[in-house]
Amino acid sequence: MLNRKPRRKLKFFFGMTEIVGRGSISRPFLLRGDFMHGLVIHGGAYKTRRDFTAHDEFLREVLAEGHKRLAAGESALDVAVQAVAMMEDCGLFHAGRGTGRNSAGYHELDASLMDGATGQAGAVASLRTIRNPIRAAQMVMEKSPHVFMVAEGAENFLRHHGIETVDPDTYFRHDMERDGPAIKDTAHGTVGAVALDRDGRLAAATSTAGIPNKLEGRVGDTPIIGAATFADDRIALSATGHGEYFIRAVAAYDVAAQCRYAGRTLDAAMDDVLQTKIGEKGGWGGMIAITRGGDVKLGFNATGMHGGFVLEDGHIHVGVS
Ligand code: ASP
Repeated sequence: MLNRKPRRKLKFFFGMTEIVGRGSISRPFLLRGDFMHGLVIHGGAYKTRRDFTAHDEFLREVLAEGHKRLAAGESALDVAVQAVAMMEDCGLFHAGRGTGRNSAGYHELDASLMDGATGQAGAVASLRTIRNPIRAAQMVMEKSPHVFMVAEGAENFLRHHGIETVDPDTYFRHDMERDGPAIKDTAHGTVGAVALDRDGRLAAATSTAGIPNKLEGRVGDTPIIGAATFADDRIALSATGHGEYFIRAVAAYDVAAQCRYAGRTLDAAMDDVLQTKIGEKGGWGGMIAITRGGDVKLGFNATGMHGGFVLEDGHIHVGVS
């Protein structure tokens, strides 16, 4: 285990930051502090505000479980995967069980992860029968010589290695044909997690069913390493939003690169990518990040974003803007 000494107390930056009430997040925020481990999660950016009580409650459960695991010494990678798998399984988000059909009438799921400690990455796209795409991405990383596998070939490989599969006709929760157009409103939110573990390792994971009414075969930013997911020895990032813009901006990597090579702060780098490189071109979305240097940030240029975090002190902050 690395020797990581306390540096400073937790400090919330007001003005750009506001943590209010009993730990709810009211705006994009940045916090700097001294923590040995932490988990930040998101359940997607959104343009229309609704009652998100159920989503918030669930994010609390995910953070509580993640905190327990990090405190017990689990790796950042396993904790990030577990957090995303829980969100995939709950059916509240537009990922895993909450997935809706594409415009051709079937389900296609994408996911990726990156282990900052080893530089290894795994990604999957256009999966149709896999219960947890994020576990599929981990399997690609750990059991294949490749980084990115898609569609039928990926499914064959994953089945061979014993991945859990589902019947798409009955498993997925959001089905326009079965539930009618009202379901459009409830199917919502890519999910993601970034974690720093007790040994100073960082990891990022992201999973989605893509944007509503996507064309058959369309793949967004979520499974693209460097676009929606990136982790190295200093930072881990997971993004959500209109994927085409995040791909063109190489968004997650751009934030990491600005910090590493240009010496920019996380705050300035993420704002540059979200507000200028994506926002000014008409794109929308958000990102979460955690750094080994003690920064946590959730930023977005949409109406709001589901998100939350827990640090070493175990206090759970959850909220939507
Ligand atoms: N980024 C995802 C995609 O474009 C969608 C989202 O995050 O809402 O596939």
